[in-house]
Amino acid sequence: MKSYRKELWFNTKNRREFINITPELSRCVQESGIKEGLLLCNAMHITASVFINDDESGLHRDFEAWLEKLAPEKPYEQYHHNGFEDNADAHLKRTIMGREVVVAITDGRLDLGPWEQIFYGEFDGKRRKRVLVKIIGE
Ligand code: ZN
Repeated sequence: MKSYRKELWFNTKNRREFINITPELSRCVQESGIKEGLLLCNAMHITASVFINDDESGLHRDFEAWLEKLAPEKPYEQYHHNGFEDNADAHLKRTIMGREVVVAITDGRLDLGPWEQIFYGEFDGKRRKRVLVKIIGE
């Protein structure tokens, strides 16, 4: 069995952003040389997500509005967590959007559904953060 590991780094301009990382993950699959196996991609931070959904800007605005309803960023004092930090909302948003995805690799390619795209979801950005990419198979 082969195994491959890589970290992808991000430094977003905004506190919250969604970044389509499907092309980068496809490059990882190519680099790994693995034809049949599994790719795991997880955020290495507790205020960021990796998730699969549609790459459609209206939907991304809907996610932003929905997440702000569930866990509004402000007022910061509404959260017990915000004693020394201001990112309680980011922890909650990350929990809803998920930590990781696992995608099958078939014939050397990500075996995604027709509209599935893989996203890095940043909820407390403007600093360097990363995801782990682990691929196993043969
Ligand atoms: Zn925190």
